[in-house]
Amino acid sequence: MEINIPVYIGSDAIDNLIRYCAAHQLDQFTLVADHNTYPVLGQAVAQSLTTHGLNVDTVVLSGQDIIADEHYCMQVLVRADRANRTYLAVGSGTITDITRFVSHRTKSSFISIPTAPSVDGYTSPSASMVIARLKQTVIAQPPIAIFADLATLCAAPRPMIAAGFGDMLGKYTSLADWKLGHLLWAEPYSESVAQRVQRALQGCVDHSTAIGQSAEVGIRGLMDGLLDSGLCMLEFGNSRPAAGAEHYVSHYLEMKLLWENRPAILHGAKVGLATILVAKRYEQLRQLTRQQVIDRLKFSTQPDRAQETQRIRAAYGPIVDQVIKEQSPFLDMSADAYDQLKQRIVDHWTDIQAIAAMVPAAQVLSGLLREVGGRITPGAIGLSDEEIALALDCSHYFRNRFTIFKLNRILGV
Ligand SMILES: [Zn+2]
Repeated sequence: MEINIPVYIGSDAIDNLIRYCAAHQLDQFTLVADHNTYPVLGQAVAQSLTTHGLNVDTVVLSGQDIIADEHYCMQVLVRADRANRTYLAVGSGTITDITRFVSHRTKSSFISIPTAPSVDGYTSPSASMVIARLKQTVIAQPPIAIFADLATLCAAPRPMIAAGFGDMLGKYTSLADWKLGHLLWAEPYSESVAQRVQRALQGCVDHSTAIGQSAEVGIRGLMDGLLDSGLCMLEFGNSRPAAGAEHYVSHYLEMKLLWENRPAILHGAKVGLATILVAKRYEQLRQLTRQQVIDRLKFSTQPDRAQETQRIRAAYGPIVDQVIKEQSPFLDMSADAYDQLKQRIVDHWTDIQAIAAMVPAAQVLSGLLREVGGRITPGAIGLSDEEIALALDCSHYFRNRFTIFKLNRILGV
């Protein structure tokens, strides 16, 4: 798939936006922002467009904790008129998701004007929404262009910058999980996309000190990495290149917070913490010899549907049926298929060890996350040790994608 989304990151993002709009004959806009992003950037964008004779309808979302749900989408949708408007999303992940959803459903296009390097989903074709208090991924659209003002990104709140870095650190474990999935679960894979995600990740890690200082060179490196990771998902056609066990832990916790009416926690803050915990599992894997694996697999039995279903029921509340359906390839595996999977693990143990070696030690990842001001304990982001343990135990049911948790389940680790 040929992806061509113009991206500008720099000091004259608004001027570049104006030039882009002139070149593409865009002259009517709906700008979406909130009480934080409007004063820091939205107002300047609206003023500049108006000065250039362009028509701008501005929607400043009202409310404290803005989430991409029916209520906030309606605040934007209710302002839609018959004009052929281009939407402008001035904000981070949530505002972008609201805008990508509403613009898609009104058959309009949208331009992303990010205000924080906090997430790699700016270029996503789908929106992460909360509908009837359930987390859902719904079809929407990527932006037609991205204009990021570097000074605004550098001035973003520290937790948002640290969250963006946490989302990128997660690529260590997501790439390793993806390779495991390709090797053991016959999942589609692209070496060129994997290498591009790896380069995006390395670019961020190389800039960790500058990111910790909010220096322009660091924040530009982080934003470049986030956007590139997003483009890799777009090119591959799903989130597999950039989301593995660490993301399923984060998604599980996010759903749990919603079910319990608790405040949301930044996506990248949960992913960063989960990455450290998943890296510990890879450390354990590196300790196992081929002979130990053979010995363990002798006692490994295929999933017992009733038992596994009971565990899913205990953990998945309102979406239990959906999760059981998603897991049917695992739950309904025949004895033959399970034996073949075990044999593949033994045959490829050297390859599995090479994959495990790609993931740095948990201590190294903690150090990197701390350097950018990220939180490295559950308590520091408002979660208990018990719920983290539950997420580590049950989040692998969330998607039918192979991760180290599935491998551990088979190995009885
Ligand atoms: Zn993510």
